[in-house]
Parts: sequence; C-alpha cells; structure tokens
Amino acid sequence: MAFGKASVRDADVSGKRVLVRVDFNVPLAEGPDGAVEVTDDTRIRAALPTVEHLLGRGARVILASHLGRPKGQVVPGLSMAPVAARLAELLGREVALAPEVVGPRAVAMAKALEPGQVLLLENTRFEPGETANDPELGLAFARLADIFVNDAFGTAHRAHASNVGVAADLPACAGELLASEVSNLSAVEDDPARPLVVVLGGSKVSDKIGVIERFIEIADQVLIGGAMCFPFFRAQGFGTGDSLVEEDGIPLARAAIAQAEAGSCELVLPVDLTMGREFSPDTEVRASEGVEVPDGWMGLDIGPRSAEEYASRIAGAGTVLWNGPMGAFELGPFAPGTRTVAEAVATCPGFTVIGGGDSVAAIQQFGLADRVDWVSTGGGASLELLEGKPLPGVEALNEA
Ligand code: ADP
Ligand code: MG
Repeated sequence: MAFGKASVRDADVSGKRVLVRVDFNVPLAEGPDGAVEVTDDTRIRAALPTVEHLLGRGARVILASHLGRPKGQVVPGLSMAPVAARLAELLGREVALAPEVVGPRAVAMAKALEPGQVLLLENTRFEPGETANDPELGLAFARLADIFVNDAFGTAHRAHASNVGVAADLPACAGELLASEVSNLSAVEDDPARPLVVVLGGSKVSDKIGVIERFIEIADQVLIGGAMCFPFFRAQGFGTGDSLVEEDGIPLARAAIAQAEAGSCELVLPVDLTMGREFSPDTEVRASEGVEVPDGWMGLDIGPRSAEEYASRIAGAGTVLWNGPMGAFELGPFAPGTRTVAEAVATCPGFTVIGGGDSVAAIQQFGLADRVDWVSTGGGASLELLEGKPLPGVEALNEA
C-alpha cells in the first residue's frame, strides 16, 4: 500500500552519494575474546534491502545511525565499530567506519567513496545537536550527500538532525523498511479484515493508553494481559496483592472500561492468573481461582483458562495486532501465557502484526517470528503510528 511519500525505488541514485539514516541501535556485549560484539543483529538485517538496493544500482552509500544514549559526547563504548564489522559480514563487502559524525575526516571519506562502496558514520548522538535537531547539524549531514533516504523506522517518532533536519536540505525519500513498516502497521487500522483483535500487554497502561483508546474505537475485541491488567482489576475493585501495579494507570483503566461500555468493542480481561511469591524463575508458583491476588503473591502471567480464551479469539480473527507480553515471559514458569498467545498469532490465518520490543523478543524466543505477517522493528514509533500520531521522520520526506 502506498503511503504518499517518495520511495528510494524511484530515486535516481546511480553514481550518487546517498545518505541513509538507518536504525542500527542494536544491543552490544563483550564477547569471549573481550571484544564488543552485536548480540542481536535483527535491525542491521532489516536495513539490508535498502542498502543492497542502493549498491545494486551503483550508489555511493553513506550510513548514519545512533547507538545507545551517549548524550552529545563521544563515548568510546558506544562506537559504531562493532556494527560496521557485523554489517560487513552480512553484506559480504567492506564497510569503512568514519572516525566522527560530520567533521572533516568524515567529509573526506564521504568524498572519496566510489560507486558500490559503503561508509558508516560514527554514532550520530556523539553530536550534541542531534537530538536537539540543530539545523546546522542537519545541514552538515546534507553536505555529505546528494540524496537522503530515511530507513530508520525505530526513530521516526523523534525529530532529530539525522532524520528530520537533514531532510530540509536534500531530496528526501523513504527506504524499503520504513515504507513497509508504515504500510503494514497502517493496514491494521485501514479497512482491516474483521474481526480485528488487538492483544495488549506489557508493564504499564500509561505507555499504551493512546493505543488502547484508539483500538476501543476501531477494533472488535481488545484483549488485555501482562502487568497492565492490574490497574484494570483495581479499577474493578479487586485486590492485586504484591503484583506490579501502576497506580497512575488506574484512572486510565477506569476510563477505558467506560469507553468500551459506551461503544461496540469488547474489552476482555483475564479470568485467571499464574502467581509467584517474587519476580524470580525459582519462586513458588500457584494458580489463582479468579483474578483476586492475595497478599504475599504477585500475578506474573495470565492463567491457562485466559490464555486458551485469548488463543481462540485470535484464531478466529481476520486481523491481529499484538503488542506487549502476557506476563513475565523471561521467567520460565511465567512464559506459558505469552507462549500460547504467540502460537495463536503464528497459526492465525488472518493478517498478523506484532510490535513492541519485548513482544518481538518473545516471538523470537519461541522461534515463531517468521510465521507472523509483520514483525515491527520499532517500539515507540509503532505505538505512535498506531495511535494515529504523525511521525516526524515520515512527515519530513518528500511527497511521492
Ligand atoms: P513491549 O516492549 O512488548 O511493548 P513492555 O515493555 O510494555 O512490552 O513490557 C514488557 C515487560 O513487562 C517484560 O519485561 C515483562 O517481564 C513485564 N511484565 C509483563 N507482565 C508482567 C507481570 N504480570 N508482572 C511483572 N512484569 C510483567
Ligand atoms: Mg519493552
């Protein structure tokens, strides 16, 4: 589905210097030999279609990304060096790493690039002007290239110099990943096959209240799980024991219940829970009868009856959106609710979309990611898009 923005596919890139904002904000850890390594290269792989497309058409490719939160200073531990190494392996070609973001040495390396060569700039957040969207820095990025491509969906909800500022000074188009993210996520809201079943979990109501409100308006069913269900239970007068309860979420949950009652969307809460004494894989585990959690216990997963109920609703869906795990899935005894939902999403014949960092980690942990129609690389950006907010990184691009 077209979303109205210029595409890299239609840009004249042959022989041109193309600056691509990618989302290479990947987890790092020290490997066995003491060197820092990329521990999950999903986001690097996700950018390959755009990078390979450009290389195949003879572009000179300059890549830029942030990594972690260096807060405008050079932090050697947040260098892009491990990313350059992993990208070179994935591309099967050399990736030069600039020693800085936009300084004279980076400019010289960008100038010296030949068609088919790849240069990765240093961490954009080493520059203090990056997160402030300093126009001077935007211009400095623009001076490196002839064309700008934004493929960093994960940061599209932020207006920074390397994704928004730069677009003021260069022809700017969407990369393959960004375009696919926007069209797949929009497809959930834009005339979806019915019933539209939305499954929301995770830790806080306040993180996702915009999405809850939006989908109570447009979905047929909204199923709630994770620690997010406790503010709902408190709003209904249940005791939550030692469960993780976001107090500020209670009035939001109360309002969402009222909103659902006034409309036609079914808001579904768990009917049973799996409880533990503490947030630990070795804790004592007990099934609850209903959803009342006694003192001394925490609800750490939806219970088996709830999980089966959710699975059967998902199985009958024309469209499924899932964001947020059903429990503390990182802890073995509290993974089953999330696993049952993940399996139901994977086997659902309808159109299925997953967003959110931890839900994506869960579906990968269960080895089911390739059975979902779209697995979003963007946590915050996917939520904001689903809430119906314009994404600055998308708005800044040229019209098609
Ligand atoms: P996502 O990244 O998919 O949007 P969130 O970040 O909102 O999801 O929430 C994920 C976190 O919520 C996980 O770390 C998980 O352990 C935690 N969580 C889910 N359910 C519970 C629960 N019942 N009690 C405590 N933590 C929970
Ligand atoms: Mg998360």
